[in-house]
Amino acid sequence: VGNQVDRVWRNARIATMGDSGTAYGAIEAGLIASVGGKIAWVGRESDAPDFNAGQSIDLAGRWITPGLIDCHTHLVYGGNRAPEFERRLNGESYQQIAATGGGILSTVASTRAASEPELLRQSTPRLAHLTSEGVTTVEIKSGYGLDLETESKMLRVAGDLGKYGNVRVSRTFLGAHTVPPEAAGDRDGYIASVCDHQLPAIAADGLADAVDVFCDTVGFSYQQTRRVLVAARRAGLAVKLHAEQLSDQSGAALAAEFGALSADHLEHLSEPSAQRMATAGTVAVLLPGAFYYLQETRLPPIDLMRRLNIPMAVATDCNPGTSPLTSILLALNFACTLFRLTPDEALAGVTRVAARALGIAGLAGTLEVGKACDLAIWDIEHPAELSYAIGFNPLYCRIAGGCDG
Ligand SMILES: [Zn+2]
Repeated sequence: VGNQVDRVWRNARIATMGDSGTAYGAIEAGLIASVGGKIAWVGRESDAPDFNAGQSIDLAGRWITPGLIDCHTHLVYGGNRAPEFERRLNGESYQQIAATGGGILSTVASTRAASEPELLRQSTPRLAHLTSEGVTTVEIKSGYGLDLETESKMLRVAGDLGKYGNVRVSRTFLGAHTVPPEAAGDRDGYIASVCDHQLPAIAADGLADAVDVFCDTVGFSYQQTRRVLVAARRAGLAVKLHAEQLSDQSGAALAAEFGALSADHLEHLSEPSAQRMATAGTVAVLLPGAFYYLQETRLPPIDLMRRLNIPMAVATDCNPGTSPLTSILLALNFACTLFRLTPDEALAGVTRVAARALGIAGLAGTLEVGKACDLAIWDIEHPAELSYAIGFNPLYCRIAGGCDG
């Protein structure tokens, strides 16, 4: 009776992804026990006490990893941009497409026009594809509303997706994504509305865990970004930043100054900014899907990040314009083939480090006693298979909070 547990998974190989120094934190011939949705025991089966389990599952040598975490997505949006993708490939220029309402503002228009149930209906298959690959936690940003009503609608839909999909959802307010058409290019005026109107209302309604800003020449300046981060701090919300994707604006240094959870993209990260990130413990979120889709050639400075011990996460950046990617496994492959991460680094990037990028390292990201029993169980012989294959999904089953599904 002393060793009563809900469920036991035995005869497993376990990639705990703990920071133990061994590859994948691997345990051969392992066992995991759960109680109340949390991990009650993990280790070698030969060391396990005699559990009295409600259910005991023999995994026949399959691998268990932590449930995967996609820590940077924009997966709630209306419509898609396939028609403009086609127009570009038929030879039309970006200017021609923008002149006819294309680009991000077309997504803003479709997202504003969609009712809340319709937005939920359109976004559900994208989340379902991520969960079919073992994702148990996903971050979802707003940023296609650019007014309080639509930004709130997006964040409510993100919350509902989590409830219906049995996924932990971390919500990020990205009102400072771009300037809405009605602001007519008045960036400072729009930033004032984000800081003084949208952000305090979103925080008061409990709709967001964090605040993000697109800090770039086509987004918002260093000073405008700083104003939003000050407002976020005042509202008691964590911060993260789209930084150094297309040019170096010292956004990563600004993120570090504000104790940001993460700075994301970072293709143009400078060494001084990287040093600030290292000192502050800010996670670098790498988004190889956008790099691929935009056919970028400038790589983020991976060797510099390694040298400075900056933790590297990997995410899909699922969005309709620059990374219509709903496969975390393909993001792993891209991280290895395009950015030359090792498979161990890449898997840590969607587990242990991704949890840190969301401020939930005490709750998820590794298989340790006391954390949520979020598991991905795989029909593989080695964890490197998860980043090695292209377009192949070896998930055997997914466990979220100790339950199937
Ligand atoms: Zn993004």
